[in-house]
Amino acid sequence: MAAGDGDRQWRSVPDALMSAWGDVFDASQEGETLSAPCPVCGATTLHRWFDRHRADPRIIAGLPWWGQGSQWQWCSSCRCYLHASGWVPVWWETAIEVDPSTLTHTPAPIEDVIERMR
Ligand SMILES: [Zn+2]
Repeated sequence: MAAGDGDRQWRSVPDALMSAWGDVFDASQEGETLSAPCPVCGATTLHRWFDRHRADPRIIAGLPWWGQGSQWQWCSSCRCYLHASGWVPVWWETAIEVDPSTLTHTPAPIEDVIERMR
């Protein structure tokens, strides 16, 4: 870890921007890196990652889902993040493999893997 990284704490997405944050992620099917700017800081460093738990294909609200899992959404610049359990969309594909035993509430272990791939 580089000097100073300890000062850059992960934090929740501000309530006032939660709706805008959700809209950006709802509109994207780009995979783990989004092209849209972060609603909080404006940097184009938004990421997401789904952890697949259990296949259970179904249609909900007209959209096809792979099954159950959990998702992280975060910005590498301002370190705002969101983590929740839910449905994994069928379009989700990723080359990023994260050791499940390292996963935490924050996206730090996933971010580490992405940074190592750069
Ligand atoms: Zn940001």
